[in-house]
Amino acid sequence: MKLILIGMPGAGKSTQGNLLSKKLGIPYLSTGHIFRDLAKEHTKLGRQIKIIMNTGLLVSDARTLNIVEEYLSRPEYDKGYILDGFPRTVNQAKEFKNGIDKVIYLNVTDKEILWRLAYRDDQGREDDTLLAIRKRIEVFHKFTKPVLDYYKHKGKLLEVNGEQKIEDIYKEILKRLNVPKHAK
Ligand code: ADP
Repeated sequence: MKLILIGMPGAGKSTQGNLLSKKLGIPYLSTGHIFRDLAKEHTKLGRQIKIIMNTGLLVSDARTLNIVEEYLSRPEYDKGYILDGFPRTVNQAKEFKNGIDKVIYLNVTDKEILWRLAYRDDQGREDDTLLAIRKRIEVFHKFTKPVLDYYKHKGKLLEVNGEQKIEDIYKEILKRLNVPKHAK
């Protein structure tokens, strides 16, 4: 199964992504994690990515697509995957050729996001400053919301209320994906 998780920063994508990965036995891949690793490298690319991330802006579509496709060409992703943080623009969605079965949108209000991130301690993420968080929310509305419409038209969008308990969100996703309760 090839799944995509979409939601604002702090919506709970990595929490659900890791739970689903265990349950379905397919790997979880987050472009945010990939870029955070690249940003630690003392190279020109690393420095550029670090600046982009800390401002809350997006890495270019071309670079993102290259990196994601390189990862997904590895044998461990043959059976499927759960992608978190990609695609984030309609252009990324259109250019992505690896295939997708369902897109899960974790819907959480801006207000709740601001609360959650104000109290999140994600090993001191450098992009969790108030300014960068506001920018990431703005970028989500401007660039990523249209991705939801793109998949809705294709009949692939599952919208889930992301303000429920973690366990309830997880159960709802499994139900809507038609995964039997006692599967693996
Ligand atoms: P968030 O908590 O905002 O959902 P992520 O961990 O998914 O953050 O991503 C962190 C940062 O990495 C983003 O703000 C952006 O700069 C960069 N990034 C991640 N995925 C993409 C993508 N698909 N396209 C462009 N930039 C990306």
